Amino acid sequence: MTSRTLLKAASITRTSTRLKAHEARPWCPVRAERRYNSSATQCGTVFSGIQPTGIPHLGNYLGAFSNWVKLQNDASSQSQLIFSIVGWHALTLPQNPKELLHSRHDMLAALISVGLDPSKVIIFHQDQNPDHVELAWILSCITPIGKLRRMTTWKARLAASRNANAESEVDESMLNTGLFTYPILQAADILAYRANLVPVGEDQQQHLELSRDIADTFNRTYHTDLFPLPQHIITPSKRILSLKDPTSKMSKSAVDVQSRILLTDEYPQIRSKIRAAVTDSIAGITYDPAGRPGTSNLLTILAGCTDTNVSDVAKRYETKGHGQLKADVVEAVEELLKAPRTEFNKLRGETKYLASVSESGLGKARSISQRTLAEVRRLIGLSRMP
Ligand code: ATP
Ligand code: MG
Repeated sequence: MTSRTLLKAASITRTSTRLKAHEARPWCPVRAERRYNSSATQCGTVFSGIQPTGIPHLGNYLGAFSNWVKLQNDASSQSQLIFSIVGWHALTLPQNPKELLHSRHDMLAALISVGLDPSKVIIFHQDQNPDHVELAWILSCITPIGKLRRMTTWKARLAASRNANAESEVDESMLNTGLFTYPILQAADILAYRANLVPVGEDQQQHLELSRDIADTFNRTYHTDLFPLPQHIITPSKRILSLKDPTSKMSKSAVDVQSRILLTDEYPQIRSKIRAAVTDSIAGITYDPAGRPGTSNLLTILAGCTDTNVSDVAKRYETKGHGQLKADVVEAVEELLKAPRTEFNKLRGETKYLASVSESGLGKARSISQRTLAEVRRLIGLSRMP
């Protein structure tokens, strides 16, 4: 038996005990937002996801993965951690089917290479669990359109479509419906597991507020406390910005590949991308996100990679220049990504192992979500006939 088969066997045994704990556990008291700390996972269910829209980048690593791994390592036996690869969300933008399939495998390998352990946490493909879409439909029937219109992500799409049309009138008729309603699917992703802790980057904060609203509306409408109101766990590196346009965040789907550092980038690529990062011509280094977004972004990256406070890092560079800062950022990023990159390259070829992790994760995920859906159906009057 290989070590990975052993891990898998261990994970199956652990799950049955964990599910019992999950059922018996009283929900934690809720605060709107928490900074990451180890007590955050002493009770509760943690849920988060990432889209299979390309190789993850440094922003995903610092804003999501590193937090997920810390949560995993500090979790008590009373907590349940669930991480999913959210294929249905990827469909909101056009995808090449072959590339999407490839990216889904890449993402699974990436999650394991950064340190998530399938014997400790549930890792699965959201698009393989139909409970999410069933719940999303039910939740969409209690979500006012006005709330979706207030989402900044939707407003940004509208603004982009206005520019594309070169018209003063906003034309939303050509935008796909999924782009409008996916925040409801996100709420369903979380609520299907009755998760109360959601570690995501700052860009997802508004969507999480909507999830809380939807959970609350459901509870009030059906006189239940089925859904806990999920809280946002924020990371110290809330938002890593694009290296080419430091007014927008680093993103997998941005057209310019030079704007992001990938988990798979080798040292020479990291060096050339950081060297070409947009900064400014002001002498000296200061942390001023509004006035000096490019320079501040490099300081944020350095602080994130070295697990240091950004103002302490900024102080060290007060009298130095961008050349020195960039050189140090290159080394820090390489140091951070070297091990996961090596692990990813090894793991990516282990297709049988990846398939077994995915299957076992899906089974565990469904065993939780099916129970939530049965209760939801009962509450809304759609139980199976006896
Ligand atoms: P896409 O462009 O396809 O939306 P993305 O880079 O925004 O890709 P997501 O899959 O949408 O990545 O998000 C996965 C997780 O990574 C989320 O928790 C999100 O908040 C976090 N995240 C994404 N980009 C950044 C960033 N630049 N800085 C910090 N966290 C980020
Ligand atoms: Mg995104």
